[in-house]
Amino acid sequence: MHRQSSVGEDGEPPSALSQLSSLKRFNSAGRGFWSDVSDKDWNSWQWQLKNRISTLAQLQRLMPTLTPEEFAGTQLANTKLALGITPYFFNLIDPADENCPVRRQVIPRIEETNTAPWELSDPCGEDGHSPVPGLVHRYPDRVLFLVTDRCASYCRYCTRSRLVSNATGYDFHADFNEQLGYIERTPQIRDVLLSGGDPLLFSDEKLEYLLHRLRAIPHVEFVRIGTRIPIFLPQRITPELCAMLKKYHPLFISVHSNHPRELTTEVRDALGRLADAGIPLGNQSVLLKHVNDDVTVMKALVQKLLLCRVKPYYLYQCDLIAGSSHLRTSVRKGLEIMKALRGHTTGYAIPQYVIDAPGGGGKVPVNPEYVLSRNSDRVVIRNFEGKVFEYPEARDGKPLFKPSEDFCPPELV
Ligand code: SF4
Repeated sequence: MHRQSSVGEDGEPPSALSQLSSLKRFNSAGRGFWSDVSDKDWNSWQWQLKNRISTLAQLQRLMPTLTPEEFAGTQLANTKLALGITPYFFNLIDPADENCPVRRQVIPRIEETNTAPWELSDPCGEDGHSPVPGLVHRYPDRVLFLVTDRCASYCRYCTRSRLVSNATGYDFHADFNEQLGYIERTPQIRDVLLSGGDPLLFSDEKLEYLLHRLRAIPHVEFVRIGTRIPIFLPQRITPELCAMLKKYHPLFISVHSNHPRELTTEVRDALGRLADAGIPLGNQSVLLKHVNDDVTVMKALVQKLLLCRVKPYYLYQCDLIAGSSHLRTSVRKGLEIMKALRGHTTGYAIPQYVIDAPGGGGKVPVNPEYVLSRNSDRVVIRNFEGKVFEYPEARDGKPLFKPSEDFCPPELV
């Protein structure tokens, strides 16, 4: 007789499995309020930028369900990190759900004005590692090149909220000669990450100028672009842009997606165009409270990214950005999620969970405990099922085949 199991094939209860498959379904963002806009306009990235939601009046008109916290927060936006949402991305917000994971990322809240004592305007200490304006040289062989302060939409937890959206009048040097000059005269720099702001907001010509100049520097082996444009504005990923980018290999792109709902059919197609241009794609997510601090949501995100030909690269513990407490979740929760992924899904789907050490210490990997103990004779390890194993440690290249006699196997965890 067939008996219905209370767990699915991979050990998940049926309700979690059905939630997982629903989260992984690809849908279009649709047209929403913009059903009368022509296809030509809707698919134009310039039209999307020109028609961004950037004022309280626009937001109230499109979303009468704004909560008092959101209303008060939006009133204050534009005096600091701006409000900006592309019409395309706005369509992913559920106006009936106050806790909509897309809404929480882009709609300001009054909690942004609460600054905890440990929060900082420059939580990663970038300004202290800046040899010339707009360039951060924190690691020995690579630099972060901040090329613009503009983004297609603005994330409320942005690590660079001190400078994006012209929040503090940060001085960007439009000709880039100072930054390129530093890279040219610093031979240890072999890797340049273009970021900001979002470099893909540049015209194809301006971006090509930068890539061309960087490629002309003999010691620059590798160029990366950090962008959230494929998620906020997939219309920007035109065939012409892809044709230009593919001339500058090796070129990698890191995208930024936090929730599976952001991976629409439009985003999948845009990422496919980049992948077809031979560009390796990675994703950086930020762990955010009530957005993706949930095992099923995170599993759906990482599996769906693979379907979009993107390797989940980093999962960041949310930086200690001023006014971000309401979006931060605990490291304990992050470790719990990582533990639920490792061994339970494809290894390629598993990002490295990191904390960017406050004050400029760089990225520090944090992992659940898989090594229980270690000495010169043996390493005691735990697998994803909690089973404990002993691995004989090699000494001067010679493995010990027998565990030492005084070894007592620990209890299974
Ligand atoms: S896209 Fe990136 S740089 Fe721009 S607001 Fe979001 S996190 Fe900040």
